[in-house]
Amino acid sequence: MKKRYQTPALPYAYDALEPYIDKETMRLHHDKHHVAYTTKLNAALEKHPELFAKAPEDLLKDLESVPEDIRTAVRNHGGGHVNHAFFWEIMGPNAGGQPQGQLLAAIKESFGSFEDFQKSFEEAATMLFGSGWAWLVVDSGKLAVEKTSNQDSPLSEGQQPILALDVWEHAYYLKYRNLRTDYVKAFWNVTNWGSVEEKFNEV
Ligand code: MN
Repeated sequence: MKKRYQTPALPYAYDALEPYIDKETMRLHHDKHHVAYTTKLNAALEKHPELFAKAPEDLLKDLESVPEDIRTAVRNHGGGHVNHAFFWEIMGPNAGGQPQGQLLAAIKESFGSFEDFQKSFEEAATMLFGSGWAWLVVDSGKLAVEKTSNQDSPLSEGQQPILALDVWEHAYYLKYRNLRTDYVKAFWNVTNWGSVEEKFNEV
């Protein structure tokens, strides 16, 4: 029997991102929402279990190769699984501040300044209509801010994400209610730039 996908454990405590992201939101978001995406991805792949040999990221990078009867499920639940695993990694306690070194240089080259990048990212996260994600991606060797709807991944567009912000209401509504902008601004306090730099250097 091929190995099923697992929801990775949160790499820090549920309350580690307080006061910016509250414990109850983290608990529900990881233990209920993320687990549900992973469970539904596994359920879809039971119809084509040979696909469990692939990394879920590779399924998203080539959705056309996924059998049509499960393609939408892989796009939605595979996206949900991969996006959330990524999201937990680029946040952390004792985080925030600014990126350094080559990443900072690349941000300045693409956006002018770190502040201009923040403005562009905040605008994408705030203006996105409905549920989705804001991203910083590497696209053809250059950094760009992108947004995707639902659980769509930039991987499916040939882009490599290095930073993400979940702007589904389940990510912030308990604490911030309808004030998505406050949540987006608070995110900068928990952005783990060390992890983002690692992802940037891997690309
Ligand atoms: Mn989410």
